[in-house]
Parts: sequence; structure tokens; C-alpha cells
Amino acid sequence: MPSRYRAEWVLPIADDPIRDGWVDVDQGRIGGIGQGDSGGAINLGRVAILPSLVNAHTHLELSHLRDAVAPTARFIDWVRPLMAARRTYADPADPRILAAARAAIVEAKMAGTGLFGDVSNTLVTVPLLREAGMPAQVFYELIGFNVPDAAERVWQARDVMARQRVEGSDVRVALAPHAPYSVSPALFAAIRADIDGDSDHISTVHLAESAEELEFVRRGTGPWRVLLDELGAWDATWTAPGGSPVEYLLDLGFLDRRVLAVHGVQCTGDDLARLRALRITIVSCPRSNRWVGAGSPPLEAFYAMGVSVAFGTDSLASVGDLNLFGELAEARRIAPKVPASHLLESATLCGAQALGFAHEFGTIEAGKRASLIAVRVPDGVTDVEEYLVSGIEPAAITWLDDRPRA
Ligand SMILES: [Zn+2]
Repeated sequence: MPSRYRAEWVLPIADDPIRDGWVDVDQGRIGGIGQGDSGGAINLGRVAILPSLVNAHTHLELSHLRDAVAPTARFIDWVRPLMAARRTYADPADPRILAAARAAIVEAKMAGTGLFGDVSNTLVTVPLLREAGMPAQVFYELIGFNVPDAAERVWQARDVMARQRVEGSDVRVALAPHAPYSVSPALFAAIRADIDGDSDHISTVHLAESAEELEFVRRGTGPWRVLLDELGAWDATWTAPGGSPVEYLLDLGFLDRRVLAVHGVQCTGDDLARLRALRITIVSCPRSNRWVGAGSPPLEAFYAMGVSVAFGTDSLASVGDLNLFGELAEARRIAPKVPASHLLESATLCGAQALGFAHEFGTIEAGKRASLIAVRVPDGVTDVEEYLVSGIEPAAITWLDDRPRA
């Protein structure tokens, strides 16, 4: 027997909000959606039912570094202490790392997140996500600006990933490069070859995040060059390509619609036009951008240019919580002209599409997984979409499938 949930608002995302709507849930699937009075429904009252949110960019394995690095004015001043803090944990499977990541998944779920795009250098988060029953695309991130044999590096990484792959699991694992200033052209090419070998492969890259990155790509100078030298990772045969980070990765043939471009804070109008033409999704993490001193993403330009936008919180090392509703509130503050409906679509459907999960997540449509949340709406609210991008606390959120059956 399906359960029918009735609510003051239902937000299908694929369509306009339904006032006084209902959703049928049958064995974990959405059976149907509609409007009006109906007998036998579980009346949830003054709530909005919507699809669970999609956090398209996190690093759960950094959750133990919550508040380890204070907000900074320059990106490089956040990166250096972060690297130092990471080095104090010799074992990637340190119980403190695992415990913090587990707690972060629970915290995010309580804040309404039902799907992750998670970046990992160690893959310790894969079993944790499976344990928690949290669907995810995990990106096995490679770093290496001076790698002697990029193909070999990718071959080794494939071996590590093969040990974590489970056929049919909704925690998927795929390769991704870190960023233009930390990955060599040969390593980008080797990862691209891996993407091309599998039509389901979704990847990601940090792109156009900071002013330091712009300087490095334009001239090969600045704080990134200094850091690479210090780390013994500089490659003397590399010459700065000039232009923007987006142009650089396009010239390398790395970007296409299966690569999520994370941040895009420094994107020019030309960059955005190029990303749009390739139907590339930008994953925006505005609270993290502020924390690390990268600046504010040009969100209104993203939407005005017709670029697909998803949202992510980034890691707890650069944001206070993994509540994606907090990200939406920051987006609303930065981009007051963007309709709330677009922001909500970004936080649900666009994220699910970009991660390759749109057949199951992102909208309320018959046949999709019933990954649904109900958000309590206070008296006096008339524009429910605007309310949902104003900052929602976990106490106002209930998971539908956690409710007792009628
Ligand atoms: Zn990141």
C-alpha cells in the first residue's frame, strides 16, 4: 500500500510549486504527485515537501579539520596551514578522521542532503558513505604537477579504485584531477583518457577559484609557483599558457559536460560562454569562497549566461557546517536578482544531473526514488520558494521515509 503525504506545498522542481499537494510513496519510490483534498493521506500540515538536496562538492575526509584554519583574506594563506594540519595525521584511516567524516554525513543528512559529490585523495569515505546508505559520486582526486609517468600514475589509481568498486552500488568512484596549478598537462591527459574509456565516467576539477590561480596560469608566477618550488614539485619544462584557467583546460582538451567545474569565482564572461557552450556545470561553493579569501562567485552572471549551476558546501575546513540550505542563503545574499526557483533547482536537479543521478534524484516525479524532505514553514510565509533560500535549520527538516506509516 502506498503512503500518501499531504502538505501545504509540494515542490516538484520539474514544475511549479503545488499549493495543497500530495505525494504517493510506495516501497521507497515516488508513486505519483497531485493537488487537492484526498482521503487517507498523512497530513503533514504547514510544510513544503521537496526532493532531498544535492551537495555536489565536499571533501568529507577533511571533516576532522573543522575550524582548524580560520578564514583568510588570501587563498594561499588558507592552503598553507591546511596542508600543515593534514600532515599531522599520518594515517589516512586515523579513527579521528573516520569518526569526523561519519558524523559529517549524518549532519548533512539531518540538514536535508540526500546525494553527495565527494572528493577524496584516499577513498576512506567510500565505505563510510555506503555504511550510511548515502548515495554519492566519489571523485578519487589525483595531485601531481611533476609526475614522471602520468599513465602509470593513473594505472595505479585505477587499481586502488577497483578495490572500492561495488557493482550496482550507488556510491560510485571515478578519477578526477585537483586543479590547473597542481596537475601536470600529462596527468590531465591521462585522466582524460580514463574518462573517455567509460561513458558513465563523471569527473570534476577545481577551476578559476583564486587570484593566485589566475596569476599562475597567466604568467607562471606568484604564490603557487613559490609553493611548488618549496614542495619540490615544480616542473621546469612547464611554461605558463597565458589566458584564463578555463581556456587552459579547454586547450588541454580536458573539459566537457562530464566534468564538473568547481568554483568558477574568477570566470570572465568569455569563460562562462565557453562553459555554457559545452554544457558544463559550475559547482558553486560561495561560503567556502568567502572563508578562503577567493572572493564572491559571479552567481548572477552564471545564471544570466545560462550556465548550469549546482551547489556544494566544500569541506568543513572552509565552512562552518554541511547544511546546503546555508549555501542557498549565501547565494541569495550574493545574487538577489536570481529567482529562488532557480537556486532551488540548482540545489536539487542540476546537482543530480551533473553527478549522473538525475534518473533517481533531483525532482519529485513518479518512478524516482522517494528521497524526500519536508521543511516546516512558519505562519505568515506566502512565498515558499523565497523562504526556502533564506536559511533553513535542521530542526525544521524531516525526512519523509523516516516518518511512521499510516
Ligand atoms: Zn574542493
